[in-house]
Amino acid sequence: MMMRIDKLLANMGYGTRKEVKALLKGGSVRVNGQPEKSAKTHVNPDEDEVTVHGETVEYKDYIYLMMNKPGDLISATEDANDMTVIDILQPEDQVFQPFPVGRLDKDTEGLLLITNDGKLSHKLTSPKKDVGKTYYAVIKGTVDDKDVEDFKNGIKLEDGYVTKPAELKILSAEAQSEIEITITEGKFHQVKRMFEAVDKRVTYLKRIRMGDLALDPTLELGEYRELREEELDYLL
Ligand code: URA
Repeated sequence: MMMRIDKLLANMGYGTRKEVKALLKGGSVRVNGQPEKSAKTHVNPDEDEVTVHGETVEYKDYIYLMMNKPGDLISATEDANDMTVIDILQPEDQVFQPFPVGRLDKDTEGLLLITNDGKLSHKLTSPKKDVGKTYYAVIKGTVDDKDVEDFKNGIKLEDGYVTKPAELKILSAEAQSEIEITITEGKFHQVKRMFEAVDKRVTYLKRIRMGDLALDPTLELGEYRELREEELDYLL
């Protein structure tokens, strides 16, 4: 596929179209070893070698990011009132026009994938595909073995919907319980509503896994990084 060299360089994070034009004018860009000064020149990113200051430009169509979402950002691309997870991305990542895969509530923390790959997003969020999403939660109330059994059999939510089997693991059971729960669907406020259905309340919620992909424990809240190749293989 041929594309304009200024578009390619802008997409790869070398600046705005205007900045890229200046870069070209300044003689920093070469195509297959030859200096290239025109922004209008077309190149084939799969075949032509483009360098900037002598460094090869790696072209990619898709971006795959893992974020440790903090509890004060909206998982959407835009919001009228609040900051979104996209707002805090670096400009060179925003040029890919990525979006969050599925939704976490504003106050939910943890693993959020951000990509511009619609196919992958569908695969991970479609209830038909059965991809497990695992959450760590702190619960007000004592979670017991009956809850584990009930969650396995399906819980009737307040609107009558019966949830698919969910795996509930009790980490500690006191007045404040700690649990891990794996669900394969993503109904609105699902984990919170499941606990409400058994008269308990989620006071802290953090997603720690999607399928075989675990949240990188070295990512602080609000930090993100690209997925490693083997992590992507788990998902594709
Ligand atoms: N369940 C919830 O209640 N909230 C989330 O953000 C994710 C799952």
